Amino acid sequence: MSQNSNSSNLEKFTKEEELFYDKHFAFPRFGKDGQQSLKKSSILVVGAGGLGSPALFYLAGAGVGNITIVDSDCVELGNLQRQILYGVSDVGKPKAQVALERIQKQNAWISVTSLVERLDATRTRELIANYDLIVDCTDNLTSKFLLHDECYRQKKNFITASIFHLSGQLLSFHYKTSSATVDLACWHCLWKQTPKDNPPANSIIGTTPGIVGVLQAQEVIKVLLHWKNRLQHQEMLTINLSALEFLKIKWHKNPTCHFCRIKIESKDNHK
Ligand SMILES: [Zn+2]
Repeated sequence: MSQNSNSSNLEKFTKEEELFYDKHFAFPRFGKDGQQSLKKSSILVVGAGGLGSPALFYLAGAGVGNITIVDSDCVELGNLQRQILYGVSDVGKPKAQVALERIQKQNAWISVTSLVERLDATRTRELIANYDLIVDCTDNLTSKFLLHDECYRQKKNFITASIFHLSGQLLSFHYKTSSATVDLACWHCLWKQTPKDNPPANSIIGTTPGIVGVLQAQEVIKVLLHWKNRLQHQEMLTINLSALEFLKIKWHKNPTCHFCRIKIESKDNHK
């Protein structure tokens, strides 16, 4: 594990920070209070690839005070057309470590930690307990559901995105900020059976994860600032960059969901 940290007082901003966040202070729904909230926030970003690259740039620029980056892979030349955190000279280096150095260059007043590791169930359980919000920028459903399921159990907010060719999806689960987690739909409610991974797509244009990753960062900022006009729980944003169409789809709790049904039944038994 590698960590860069600042020693500035959490309760006030240095002169440099005042300048760095000048435009945020002037933004009506942001201000110094919002900046202070972001400074005190801790997020875990899993995956520093096509989605994680733009998301990490904007989350660091926004001033999220504590960011941990998890990625077990090294920088590859064939991924640089979309993984904009890295350059040719970084090929072969651990992505999480290079990402840390890159975003720390952008914002020296936040604390960034890198973890070069692949998360299994036990490690996921241990790790996410320490964060306010988990940002899933991975590229496979196994990792996505591992993170989601643990966020459900530990009542953590969870923002996940995925892409395919010129389309994307964005979901925001508010398990922490809701007062009645047991009544919320979970991600498994959408399917009779949890979907399985397809072979990875070899055709990707960099702008697709770029746009979706920035939207993901925007929703992280909204949740951390408690803005009401954020993507809601049980809403999915679908992004069609071919037709330039953005659509929000609502879904409902599935009473026969294999994942959250047991908790509903156990609640009913106590009425
Ligand atoms: Zn469910």
